[in-house]
Amino acid sequence: MNLIFIAPPAAGKGTVSSLLATNYGYQHISTGDLLRKEINSGSELGMQVQEIVNQGDLVSDDIITELLMKELAKVKSGFILDGYPRNVEQAEKLNTIFTSLNIPDYRVIYLAVTEEVATKRALGRIICNKCGRTYNKYFTELAPKVTNICDNCGNALSTRNEDTEETFKYRYQKYLDVTAPVLQYYQDLDKLSTVDANQPSDQVFEDIKKIIEV
Ligand SMILES: [Zn+2]
Repeated sequence: MNLIFIAPPAAGKGTVSSLLATNYGYQHISTGDLLRKEINSGSELGMQVQEIVNQGDLVSDDIITELLMKELAKVKSGFILDGYPRNVEQAEKLNTIFTSLNIPDYRVIYLAVTEEVATKRALGRIICNKCGRTYNKYFTELAPKVTNICDNCGNALSTRNEDTEETFKYRYQKYLDVTAPVLQYYQDLDKLSTVDANQPSDQVFEDIKKIIEV
């Protein structure tokens, strides 16, 4: 079964996607990756995209939809779609793509996470620059045994937060506002499953297994 992920920032989408890729061979399709791939290919369209990005503009729905259509025509089944659709218009376009490529089997998974948990996940993240292991100072089970020291290699840990609490909360709220109509759209089509993403990622993975293994 193909999956479409709708997930606020810090819902743990990356970890769950890797688990699905490793255990079920899911192919992760993100619109960000598609854009980067097209730019790196040096194609005509890729050069256009590069120019748009350089100017600090958003790549149009039409271009993203075209790239996605090309990719889905190749992959066809066993994919996780990430970053699309972001609005109802895109959801309708995706429906058309699915129909034309004969992809009837999909489920939309909403990774629901509270603002509190998402904020702690995003802002509490600390990383070991030496071995790459990540921790979170706000969750006991994810915190290093000794404050700011890597369990693995004894290196001092550093914070790498791009967000302040205020900017993170803004991004989170904005995401909810923008995606609410998309969730409603899939609810009406009876395609929506909501998973409690406040849980640890292995539990989230278990819940998703139940959805895909029916
Ligand atoms: Zn380390």
